[in-house]
Amino acid sequence: MKKSVDFFIKLCYNKYRKQEINKKEITPMRTLVFDMDGTIADLYGQVNWLADLEAENPAPYINAEPLYEMTMLNEVLHLLKGQGWRIAVTSWLAKDSTKEYDVKVRQAKREWLERHDFPFDEIHLVKYGTTKANCTRKHGGYQILIDDNATVRKGWTLGATIDATQNILTILEKLLDF
Ligand SMILES: [Mg+2]
Repeated sequence: MKKSVDFFIKLCYNKYRKQEINKKEITPMRTLVFDMDGTIADLYGQVNWLADLEAENPAPYINAEPLYEMTMLNEVLHLLKGQGWRIAVTSWLAKDSTKEYDVKVRQAKREWLERHDFPFDEIHLVKYGTTKANCTRKHGGYQILIDDNATVRKGWTLGATIDATQNILTILEKLLDF
């Protein structure tokens, strides 16, 4: 009798182990990597944004309007997070900027995300031109880049990309059924 119980437990355990292993294969780490400027923040809608950046004025980053109704975007992102997606922000600093300006831009970007309750698990505010895949490559899994810059999207090697010159909200909603 004892032997058959042991056998049954072992059988169940093996089945459980198999399910655990399969689960990992079905749902590897999934990450959404968001750009900021021109993707969620309307930096380029700020009058004189380029002149301001060249003069190392952080105002356009601070005053940029959100490109979406943020309560709606955040709701979709929270649902995606509930389905196992991690959210990263990978955004370039200003072109040819000084260390002093980098500090101000980093602060402006972090405060912008906080002000608009943007939910993220990690953030990379990196030198202009940085290969974005290098920032989150270590996580592996499947990673989708959401970015308005076609060249940056072309250089993405970790999964799919979403063209943020289109409405990203409707595309992200479709991901809920992924
Ligand atoms: Mg951009």
